[in-house]
Amino acid sequence: MAQEDRPMPNAALRVLLEAIEEVMGLNGTKAVLNAGGLSAYIDNYPPKNLDMEATFAEYGAAQQAVEDFYGPRGARAMLLRIGRATFQFGLRDQPAILGLAGIALKALPEKTRMKLILERMAKAAVERVNQPTSVREEDDAYYFIVDECPCGWRPPHDKSCCFVTVGVLMEAMAWITGKLHKVEEVACISNGASNCVYRIAKEATED
Ligand SMILES: [Zn+2]
Repeated sequence: MAQEDRPMPNAALRVLLEAIEEVMGLNGTKAVLNAGGLSAYIDNYPPKNLDMEATFAEYGAAQQAVEDFYGPRGARAMLLRIGRATFQFGLRDQPAILGLAGIALKALPEKTRMKLILERMAKAAVERVNQPTSVREEDDAYYFIVDECPCGWRPPHDKSCCFVTVGVLMEAMAWITGKLHKVEEVACISNGASNCVYRIAKEATED
């Protein structure tokens, strides 16, 4: 798309590429990097640091290449898995980009913990990932609202396409509550909305 690129930290793209490799294997990842115009990253992932040398366009291109690889129908489940792995690798190696470094959760009520984590992740997105993000609460759900998304550098979509972030948020909620919570992207920049908006149900769907 004809818009100026937007930098993001090396570590953010690295975690995504590691998650793609976890789900698709080494050869699948190579195919994705080639197809996405990211062959410079083959056997050469971005370093584990917060230098702003990766870009939103690259992050979007990697996701788009996964979607193209599996086709729009098959891609959804794979992108969700990649998102869940992205959260786990991020938590393990790069908790700063998730805002979860040194987090100490005391015996807070479950919904308070969910809100706390979402607010920490939004703050880290703003401060570390160059991604304006906020959290809104309603009676039955939290909303995670992202104003600048790599999907803005992807081709337009008929429907929401940011399943990696849906997976990240699902895994974050599972991590903090031990339960599955329904997460839906109810508006998406790639579908013409002004932000990508994720609805996170307060009530768990299952244990
Ligand atoms: Zn989106």
